[in-house]
Amino acid sequence: MRDLTPNGAAKGKVVSMPKRTRFANTRSGFDYLIVGAGFAGSVLAERLATGLDKRVLLIDRRPHIAGNAYDHYDDAGILIHRYGPHIFHTNSQQVASYLSRFTKWRPYEHKVLAHVDNQLVPIPINLTTLEKLYGLKLTPEDAAEFLKSKAEPVAEIRTSEDVVVNSVGRELYEKFFRGYTRKQWGLDPSELDKSVTSRVPTRTNTDDRYFGDSFQQMPLHGYTRMFENMLDHPNIKVMLNTDFEEVRHEVQYDKLIYSGPIDEFFDFRFGKLPYRSLKFRHETVDQENFQPVAVVNYPSESVAHTRITEYKHLTGQVNPRTSLTYEFPADDGDPYYPVPRPENAELYRKYQALADATPNVTFAGRLGTYRYYNMDQVVGQALSMYNRIVEAEERDGAIARAAREMMTVNGALRAEVAQQGAGDD
Ligand SMILES: Cc1cc2nc3c(=O)[nH]c(=O)nc-3n(C[C@H](O)[C@H](O)[C@H](O)COP(=O)(O)OP(=O)(O)OC[C@H]3O[C@@H](n4cnc5c(N)ncnc54)[C@H](O)[C@@H]3O)c2cc1C
Repeated sequence: MRDLTPNGAAKGKVVSMPKRTRFANTRSGFDYLIVGAGFAGSVLAERLATGLDKRVLLIDRRPHIAGNAYDHYDDAGILIHRYGPHIFHTNSQQVASYLSRFTKWRPYEHKVLAHVDNQLVPIPINLTTLEKLYGLKLTPEDAAEFLKSKAEPVAEIRTSEDVVVNSVGRELYEKFFRGYTRKQWGLDPSELDKSVTSRVPTRTNTDDRYFGDSFQQMPLHGYTRMFENMLDHPNIKVMLNTDFEEVRHEVQYDKLIYSGPIDEFFDFRFGKLPYRSLKFRHETVDQENFQPVAVVNYPSESVAHTRITEYKHLTGQVNPRTSLTYEFPADDGDPYYPVPRPENAELYRKYQALADATPNVTFAGRLGTYRYYNMDQVVGQALSMYNRIVEAEERDGAIARAAREMMTVNGALRAEVAQQGAGDD
């Protein structure tokens, strides 16, 4: 077993093949080739290997496993997330207990502050946010009344702007949402589907947790370590720095699971599915703490970044220095966020129809299904896909057994008839 993960994050468990000798091991081939070692690909690899004893080749074009959830220790020895902060939260007991096979957890409830009117206030908007911004003292009933007085009812809620203006009014919309959304998406909220801002609640109590899920914990030793444990199986071979194009005609496999971009798989036949990307600036500063919570949002359009993450809040690490990530939204770069507009959903449906008509290939994950999914949703999707594979195998197995039994019966009948025939002669 080799450790191909840079920066020493993956301490000794990644199963992998050195690139030069990689095809020596294909022998009679694999049952499954899985493209993408993120949550979608890795959960399916683990399930197929452990649950169905399949031989799996898992490839990723990046130099590491864990997809966008990849974390590693930086030069200061601080565990950071290369692709921005990943906070694990779920309401699914099934997903939580599945992942608990591969990691212990550290309780962590995510809190976010927004830099608004030169102060830091809780987001989602809650009672404290209103008190701080307007210099008021409120009960939850007062806060509800206050928001009601600010809200500007919208007859038909279609866009992201409609959602927020309808619930908290234009003033709070402009302070918290307009600039942030314009930076994040490069589009005005009035041009974006209502789903984008519907995700953010408004509260009239002092609950300042970002998520309300029943399970909110971080993998104790990080995501990469959890993935290493998941993939530590003799039936799973992992090849990093390997694009699907490089191996698609070289490796023998029966079935393909593809968690890369669906439009790329079909050579962008109908055009490119639009994504929003991010540039990350990672830095370590010579001070023990930088900000009061893990994430501070910067909604103002006068600064280019959307948020700053300080990782020690997520991990509880103790270190005299602290590491941060600034996020700068961009049009170009890795595909991160599918842009939720009706015309893009329409374009995706064309690719989906093509996918449905392509035998022996299953598309999975956020890129394979062009949907913004949280990690737990991707795990849930992968577990359901696995269940469908098991059902299909059971069906095929039952059919094969029935066919074998039929052949045995036919053979016996033929032998009997032949014997009877011989007797008649
Ligand atoms: C900035 C950011 C913050 C996020 N924060 C959270 C959060 O706090 N909580 C949460 O629950 N979710 C969060 N998410 C969502 C989370 O990242 C996804 O749910 C999850 O990573 C999806 O897993 P996946 O396997 O579908 O995709 P990915 O993790 O993207 O994995 C796909 C992999 O496929 C590989 N690949 C693609 N094409 C090819 C190819 N042709 N050949 C070989 N390999 C290929 C890629 O290199 C990639 O590693 C966040 C996402 C982003 C972008």
